[in-house]
Amino acid sequence: MHLKSLTLKGFKSFASATTLKFEPGITCVVGPNGSGKSNVVDALSWVMGEQGAKALRGGKMDDVIFAGTSGRPPLGRAEVTLTIDNADGALPIDYSEVSVTRRMFRDGAGEYEINGSSCRLMDVQELLSDSGIGREMHVIVGQGRLSAILESRPEDRRAFIEEAAGVLKHRKRKEKAVRK
Ligand code: ATP
Ligand code: MG
Repeated sequence: MHLKSLTLKGFKSFASATTLKFEPGITCVVGPNGSGKSNVVDALSWVMGEQGAKALRGGKMDDVIFAGTSGRPPLGRAEVTLTIDNADGALPIDYSEVSVTRRMFRDGAGEYEINGSSCRLMDVQELLSDSGIGREMHVIVGQGRLSAILESRPEDRRAFIEEAAGVLKHRKRKEKAVRK
């Protein structure tokens, strides 16, 4: 399983539809300060269901919608589609390619789609949980977070790695069961 592409439309600084294609392996996004690199990462969190404005580096949720520039009026909606290669069947859905879309309007209304069919946030979360890329997984390391992780206590660092690997929830469940 790997991320195939990400399409942003009206999301933050990406007013026009922009598609980024990813190959298996490591992808680097490079560009000058303020060119939108972190916005790409925000789009990834957002399409997977992120509900916190702060996690998206904004004050309120509709800050993700293109707010306009001197030469271009604001837009009424943001839309992001993430396409995942599921040839190995890692995602529990019978498609070799899975696309997840999230859309949000100025009035706060939002919608999600899996392979073009309308669905709930919960369906997106369920699809992605255990895949290692879900919303609750801290596999997205924000700008400035890397040194905080490297400088953290060994216990915290271990928890971080366990969470990214998807074993933290099992350890927590075990601890809870043992306490009872
Ligand atoms: P750095 O190298 O400094 O980390 P970056 O490439 O990560 O930069 P971003 O933080 O992704 O840059 O992009 C910031 C730009 O996105 C700013 O110019 C900001 O005005 C613009 N931006 C953020 N939200 C919106 C929005 N809703 N509408 C229009 N532009 C936006
Ligand atoms: Mg940045």
